Amino acid sequence: MTTQHYVFTIDGAAGTGKTTVARELAKRLGTNCLDTGAMYRAIAVISVDHGVDPEDGVALAAALEARGVRFDWEQEPPAILLGGKDVSKRIRDLDISSVVSIVAKHPEVRKVLVKQQRKIRDDRSMLVAEGRDQGSVVFPDAPVRFFLVAEMDERTNRRVKQLKQLGSEVELETVQQDIQARDHLDSTREASPLICPDGAIRIDTSNKTIEEVTDIMEDAVRSFLSV
Ligand code: C5P
Repeated sequence: MTTQHYVFTIDGAAGTGKTTVARELAKRLGTNCLDTGAMYRAIAVISVDHGVDPEDGVALAAALEARGVRFDWEQEPPAILLGGKDVSKRIRDLDISSVVSIVAKHPEVRKVLVKQQRKIRDDRSMLVAEGRDQGSVVFPDAPVRFFLVAEMDERTNRRVKQLKQLGSEVELETVQQDIQARDHLDSTREASPLICPDGAIRIDTSNKTIEEVTDIMEDAVRSFLSV
């Protein structure tokens, strides 16, 4: 008997609300949410805190294999561990944000993480996965895919609020610059650039609440599961 492994993907740029709605959708479906941005951010921690050149994809991939990045699924939301150490808070710092899109452009790094992401899917009967390439490259067979967009001012305000909640006081302008720089790098890189996956349901989250966006997603997923 073949076991089904359903994955539902949510892609989009920074500040479009992906992580928040992905967690909410996973909760409603009674399953896990895979935050792939956290994995790339952990590689940025390897670079910044352990002195690996962010432009050297081979060295980063080797350091990643040596240290290991994994989730602790017992925590809610799951903690991200680097070499066994919880770096969930560290990955949100601005110095990590400003390097993450550089380390994420390397095919050597992406190859290792994509393999891990597929294994996480294979270990469960259902998964909600969010990032930049989930519906386009990692899980092109995902039966329901979403692509989130939002206006720049809204995206910036959300990020500032999020960082404040984590205890960082940051200038609006600095956050906007970080988002714009990452948008540019993420959508122009050669390996798995940010695109709207074929057949994805596009949602503009600018004027919608978390509940409204999650409702749209849950409806789409449940109507797929009921056929
Ligand atoms: O989602 P989040 O903003 O935390 O992602 C941080 C960065 O990680 C992105 O700007 C992007 O460079 C990279 N990323 C990626 N592919 C993914 C998820 C994140 O390249 N699937």
